[in-house]
Amino acid sequence: MTGRVLSLRRRWRKAVRRCAAALTQAVGRHPFLAGIAGTAVATAMASLTFLTLYDGRADALLHAHETSENLVSLVSSDLARNVEIYDLSLHSMVDGAQNPQTWKLPTELRQAVLFDRATTAAYLGGAYVLDAGGRVIASQRDELDPSVRLDDRDYFVAQQRNPDVGLFVSHPFRSRLRGGNLSIGLTRRINGPDGAFAGVALLAIRIEYFQHLLDKINTGKAGSVFIVLDDGTLLARKPYTEEAIGSSIAKSPTFMLMASRAEGSYVAKSAVDGVRRIFTYAHVPSTPLIAVVAPAEEDVFAEWRRRSLLAGGLTLALGAVFVLVSWLLAFTLQGKVEAQAELVRLAATDPLTGLSNRRVLDNRLDEEWLRARRNGSAMSVLFVDVDYFKKFNDTYGHAAGDEVLIAVAECIASVVRRSVDLVARYGGEEFAVVLPETSAQGALVIAEKIRKKVQAISVFYEPDAQGSVTVSVGCATCLPAQGGSVSGLMAQADAQLYVAKSAGRNRVSAGA
Ligand code: GH3
Ligand code: MG
Ligand code: MG
Repeated sequence: MTGRVLSLRRRWRKAVRRCAAALTQAVGRHPFLAGIAGTAVATAMASLTFLTLYDGRADALLHAHETSENLVSLVSSDLARNVEIYDLSLHSMVDGAQNPQTWKLPTELRQAVLFDRATTAAYLGGAYVLDAGGRVIASQRDELDPSVRLDDRDYFVAQQRNPDVGLFVSHPFRSRLRGGNLSIGLTRRINGPDGAFAGVALLAIRIEYFQHLLDKINTGKAGSVFIVLDDGTLLARKPYTEEAIGSSIAKSPTFMLMASRAEGSYVAKSAVDGVRRIFTYAHVPSTPLIAVVAPAEEDVFAEWRRRSLLAGGLTLALGAVFVLVSWLLAFTLQGKVEAQAELVRLAATDPLTGLSNRRVLDNRLDEEWLRARRNGSAMSVLFVDVDYFKKFNDTYGHAAGDEVLIAVAECIASVVRRSVDLVARYGGEEFAVVLPETSAQGALVIAEKIRKKVQAISVFYEPDAQGSVTVSVGCATCLPAQGGSVSGLMAQADAQLYVAKSAGRNRVSAGA
């Protein structure tokens, strides 16, 4: 069992090592892969972070929406509960007022019958019974002032005109009975025995009630929360501005949305101060009131923005470092690969002539020999040796000799042009040419071309009687498939070179 695990581990390690080697090789061949891969990884990671951050924005919005919904429901239920309590008082006042017996009772008793239930109501400005002419005929607390007429009030007119109005919530007004106190009136109609309009039961609710309700709500730095009538009249608003109370927002497009649906939510610029807010609203059941909570977008996203800036900034900074490091690695790798390629090239080249060196020649000879043997093709080799070169060196110096060697190398290379052929410096003033798939006749033609071209080099060359550089060439050809060896072929070419030299130089000699 342990043996199997060990062998598995070994195999696994081997696979990893092979993968790493393949990767290194691939990156070595294309060093910029490291930079491109690094950039791609950093971009992917940054995209992922930004996607997550964007998701966080949606979460912040959802959270704000849920909180607003809860607050709206809180305000709405408080309003509904209180209006219900006020309405019970109104009902009791209407019942009392409609009973003719009430008006026959002594004042104290009548007060108790009419206003008994209204006394406990919070934020109550006053409770009144008005007659059909708008005069106050009974008041819970205030002295009766016969000069005060309230028949122009919206609640009075509404109740007077329509017997089916029921509970009516008025627009804010400044009280004529309580020194200009800002209030709203909750009213119910009082009917005579024949059903005709006989007056109004009125509860004046101090506007502070609404303001106090809103004061408990935290709306953030630029948020707002308000209570509005369904015709667009603002009853209370936090932050409080006196001129806003009683003003109408009926014309603002945001209000139109609110008026048309029982509850909802939307993002819009406030009609009051131009701040972009997330509005959540609900109509208070059985009343014309609408409760609205509107935190500012700026506050809702403040924390998310702070976190995003930090995380986004860090991601960008780290990503930039990652990309920088991967490109540094890529450039370093590229430099290394280029240096390595240069080393390989130098190791294979003769520094003076730029031709392949002896090592490359030996390898190529072996390779071409095997290929020719496989293919059954012929293979030729030329040995090219500069004539009387020692004398030239002795006469004109080594540097001049080097110039001649370079010129001769260029001549040979210009004649031998097939990509499969190889020209190499064999050593000293000797060159070797490998000609794969070349017959003896073909080799002879090339050798002759080399000889002629070298002879045409325009150098004053005293050692030769004709005053020019000359070479002698030994050619050897064989069919490796029929046996023999590379060294045999080379020895044969060398022997032919010797023949050419012996025969007087500046000539080509070939033989089997
Ligand atoms: P032969 O016609 O029989 O070939 O006579 P040779 O003088 O050319 O031949 P030999 O082998 O006697 O002399 C070769 C000379 O080549 C000896 C050396 O001074 C010169 N030589 C070898 N390598 C270099 C080199 O890299 N640069 C220069 N300038 N001369 C070289
Ligand atoms: Mg020689
Ligand atoms: Mg020579």
